[in-house]
Amino acid sequence: MKPSFVQKFNLLAVAQGLYITIVQFLANRFAGRVVTISYPEKKLKMKERFRGLHRLERYESGEHKGLEKCIGCALCASACPADVITVVAGENDPADPHSPGERYAVVYDMDILRCIFCGMCTEACPTEAIVMKHDYELADDERGGPQGGVNKFIYHKEDLLGREFYW
Ligand code: SF4
Ligand code: SF4
Repeated sequence: MKPSFVQKFNLLAVAQGLYITIVQFLANRFAGRVVTISYPEKKLKMKERFRGLHRLERYESGEHKGLEKCIGCALCASACPADVITVVAGENDPADPHSPGERYAVVYDMDILRCIFCGMCTEACPTEAIVMKHDYELADDERGGPQGGVNKFIYHKEDLLGREFYW
């Protein structure tokens, strides 16, 4: 059967598309229902359970105040399905400990481009030392230095301990 003019040019789908566009435009324009934001000046507030970039935590109060929560057990690295985390543990000096345990993480590296943000590392950690916050900006315009130097996407312990977040 020969298609009609409407079928031939898919006019029904075109009209449906235009209808949705016009409704959204009017809603945005007159009902104040803005669905876009002026990124990067404004940033989306993520849901509470959003799993964003990682941070290593310190104790903020109590007898261990200021010490690192990480005890270098490497359970996070064992749980990670993408081989992101490298932990090298060392013995604490009782006179000047880094953490409350016998050991601490001398090295804590994350090859963040491998990360699939599954959250298994945070689940595995017995001291809630590694947490995932709400930041989602990971992009950069180069991977490392001009001569292939420092890889910006390998996060070291110092980066993870001192990381500031929007909220
Ligand atoms: S979020 Fe998942 S993939 Fe990323 S470091 Fe943690 S366990 Fe590994
Ligand atoms: S972050 Fe948690 S699981 Fe990973 S090494 Fe430190 S204490 Fe262990």
